[in-house]
Amino acid sequence: MNKNKIIVVGSGNAALCAGIAALEKGAEVLMIEKASEKEAGGNSRYTAGAMRFVYTSNEELYPLLLNPDDERIPVTEFGSYSRQQFEKDLLEFNDGRPLSLHQKIVIEQSHPTLKWLSSHNIKFEPIYSRQTFQKEGKYVFWGGLTLEAQGEGVGLVEAEMNEYLRLGGTILYETEGRNLVVEENKVKGIICKTSEGEVRLSADAVILGCGGFEANPELRKKFMGGNWEHSKVRGTPHNMGRGIEMALKIGAAFNGLPDGCHAVPMDLNMPNYGNLEIPFIERKHYRKICYFLGVMINAQGKRFVDEGKNFRNYTYAQFGKAILEQPGNFAWQIFDQKVEHLLYSEYRFWDASYVEADSLVELIPKLAGVDSTEALQTLKAYNLAVDQNTDFDPTILDGKATKGLKLNKSNWANTLDTPPFRAYPVTCGITFTYGGLKVDQNANVLNESDVKINGLYACGELVGGVFYHGYPGGSGLTSGAVFGRIAGHSAASQNLKL
Ligand SMILES: Cc1cc2nc3c(=O)[nH]c(=O)nc-3n(C[C@H](O)[C@H](O)[C@H](O)COP(=O)(O)OP(=O)(O)OC[C@H]3O[C@@H](n4cnc5c(N)ncnc54)[C@H](O)[C@@H]3O)c2cc1C
Repeated sequence: MNKNKIIVVGSGNAALCAGIAALEKGAEVLMIEKASEKEAGGNSRYTAGAMRFVYTSNEELYPLLLNPDDERIPVTEFGSYSRQQFEKDLLEFNDGRPLSLHQKIVIEQSHPTLKWLSSHNIKFEPIYSRQTFQKEGKYVFWGGLTLEAQGEGVGLVEAEMNEYLRLGGTILYETEGRNLVVEENKVKGIICKTSEGEVRLSADAVILGCGGFEANPELRKKFMGGNWEHSKVRGTPHNMGRGIEMALKIGAAFNGLPDGCHAVPMDLNMPNYGNLEIPFIERKHYRKICYFLGVMINAQGKRFVDEGKNFRNYTYAQFGKAILEQPGNFAWQIFDQKVEHLLYSEYRFWDASYVEADSLVELIPKLAGVDSTEALQTLKAYNLAVDQNTDFDPTILDGKATKGLKLNKSNWANTLDTPPFRAYPVTCGITFTYGGLKVDQNANVLNESDVKINGLYACGELVGGVFYHGYPGGSGLTSGAVFGRIAGHSAASQNLKL
């Protein structure tokens, strides 16, 4: 049989899922990756490997687990995550838009895709460290996000790569896709930059899985405006938006919000890009997302978001932007001793930036760049506004709020009263961009007239219209796996040789 020959661009989660899916349908697959083998795997390798998906019972989780006999499992409340809840969570960020086709596909295919990954030797573990709090002797999952890949992002990409190679896939590193080859109204290959110069690779179809434009300050400025060129980049320096540019050049349509992105509070003093040289556990420790346990103030000494608006899974990806919009693009997160034991380990990271004092009066002058008088007033007013009659409970939206402030905190509002007090300086770190290529239900890239571009497919970050103004944590990898699998199956099974 004459196999379809497919080129997959990129080697992160989306590209690897596309490769595995195409191979299982009998195609011949060559992957090209811009980075060296050491730096390959894209943002996917930087992740915690957390994946959001629909499940209705524990029984649906067990087959996905690496170790279903873990002794904590009998004392764990996994709850459930319904399709309706996933819909609601995405709609929250759609600003009135109905669910897009792409969002419906992600929801619908989330659980089947996790099962598919598991059938390909990718196994999962409960996220005890960041998604549970202990309550009455039980581990209680609070945010609908329950499993992460074994070994987090590094483990996920390694397991997917092993499977891809086992099924017969091949890969060329240090090979950057630059331009698509179009002949007879069909994508027939790709021109690449390699150490030996330009090379043309031919194929029956090309699947773009080579990330968004988050690592490219010029494209951030062009598409997103504002202060985005000043943002730090949390992950790979290689996602420069070339996949999107290549496709736009041959007439592909742009979809989604050009300035939509996932961006979170990060240590002000973190390196400008993520760095795989830093040991994994430390790399992710520049993130600072426990603001819901304290307050955040800006250079003017003012609070600027409702830190307890919702569980942090639903706010952390938006609060990076909120920080970038503050004067000087920074903020300080302030906590007291009462919540110290609840702060994630990233706050105890040896390289974490912070200042400490035994009173708020002593702490505030240590907050570099902040108007001290205004800051003290803000914190005093906050303390006086805290509802003292409601119990603090981080496993639920506890309703322990402030009352009467111009900007209230809706949940988990504890008084800042127990020394020592600590403050952590934060800035914005962009994770990935939401705007990108328009694809149909087969992950086929569409042109401006919604007509499919023959032989061109896309998956992962560079698919636009999956996320708009925000993101429920763990949906990026799921989206990449869902569209990767669809793109691989479509490209392998369509009659491309016609
Ligand atoms: C620190 C961090 C933590 C995260 N944690 C999570 C999480 O726990 N759960 C979750 O769902 N999401 C998480 N995300 C988001 C998640 O990483 C992305 O949504 C997802 O990994 C993107 O996968 P992808 O395959 O589309 O892109 P990537 O994994 O970034 O892969 C793109 C690949 O394409 C290569 N490439 C780029 N340009 C070219 C070119 N021209 N030619 C050839 N190759 C090219 C890149 O080098 C890269 O290897 C996190 C992101 C970061 C940065």
